[in-house]
Amino acid sequence: MTNGDSGLKALHNPDIPVPEELQSTIAITSLDRIYNWCRARSMWPLLFGLACCAIEMIAAAASRYDISRFGMEVMRPSPRQADLMIVSGTVTKKMVVPIVRIYNQMAEPKYVLAMGACASGGGPFKEGYNVVSGIDKYIPVDVYVPGCPPTPQALIHGFLTLQKKIESQSLRTVPWYRSGESTAIPIPLLGPDIIDPRQAELIRRQAEQAAAQAAAAPSEA
Ligand code: SF4
Repeated sequence: MTNGDSGLKALHNPDIPVPEELQSTIAITSLDRIYNWCRARSMWPLLFGLACCAIEMIAAAASRYDISRFGMEVMRPSPRQADLMIVSGTVTKKMVVPIVRIYNQMAEPKYVLAMGACASGGGPFKEGYNVVSGIDKYIPVDVYVPGCPPTPQALIHGFLTLQKKIESQSLRTVPWYRSGESTAIPIPLLGPDIIDPRQAELIRRQAEQAAAQAAAAPSEA
């Protein structure tokens, strides 16, 4: 018998006194276990790929690796129906805009898995003129899967890691049951370079400092 089972029994057995302050905790803990077990085993990934890593993601979904064993095979083409975003491939500056927009369109609870070196930190193209150095600069990432590309086994290990994370969450603390509106992540601005609106003030200050330094420097003429 598990702790949760014994907790529920104690709650319903009048011969076993349960302190009042613990009663809601025991009920929530048991509910957490059921709720998280169901959620972790029915993840619906969003169906999109960005580069070579996507080929390994497709292989993981095929019969040889069969991610349906983990309840994750129902890939959805709509963010409204998906709760797992697998960022599989190189994230270009042009692509980060729709990725953030799609992330905002997914309903809570939602999770992000960064698959491969490119999605995790820029990979072989890190600090290239057209690539962002990791999708976690823009949206929160729950699990990173290293590799270039990661094997299907590595991706499945990432799924199992995500399941463990989900199982550690509690109804008491998850943000999507808190009152108030959830805030969307600002859409990055695509200009000569990509700009995260959350960093606009910092960028402005740095530009002003650079301009002041340039004005103070003696001219070469
Ligand atoms: S991590 Fe490697 S395999 Fe994956 S998208 Fe980048 S270059 Fe391609």
